[in-house]
Amino acid sequence: MHEVALATQIARIVARHTPAPVRYVNITIGARRGVVPASLTYAWNFVTSGTSLAGSTLQCTYQPAILACTTGHTSTIDDPRLPVCPLCQASGTWVDENPFTVTSIDLA
Ligand SMILES: [Zn+2]
Repeated sequence: MHEVALATQIARIVARHTPAPVRYVNITIGARRGVVPASLTYAWNFVTSGTSLAGSTLQCTYQPAILACTTGHTSTIDDPRLPVCPLCQASGTWVDENPFTVTSIDLA
C-alpha cells in the first residue's frame, strides 16, 4: 500500500510550506499513477494525526487516462494497464497529463 508513503510525503511538503491550520489539501491524480484515491485519503487521516495537519482533509480529483490509437480514436480508459484501444483493439499512446499535483491548499 504505497498510498501511506505518498500521504506521508505530501503531508511533509504541505506542513513545511504552509502555516497551520490547514482545512483542505486538494490534489489531482492521473489514473495511470496507480493510486487508489480512497486509500490515499484514508492514509492521510492517520498520517496527519497528531501533526499540525490533524483534522485537515485530503481531497482527490481523479483524472482519467486518455488513449489515442494508431487508427485515430481517442478514448477514455478505465483500466489503464494496457494501451489498447477499446474500439478497435489497436495499440496507442497516452495523451493525458497523468498528473500527481497538489493543486491548492485551503487554510482554515
Ligand atoms: Zn482505435
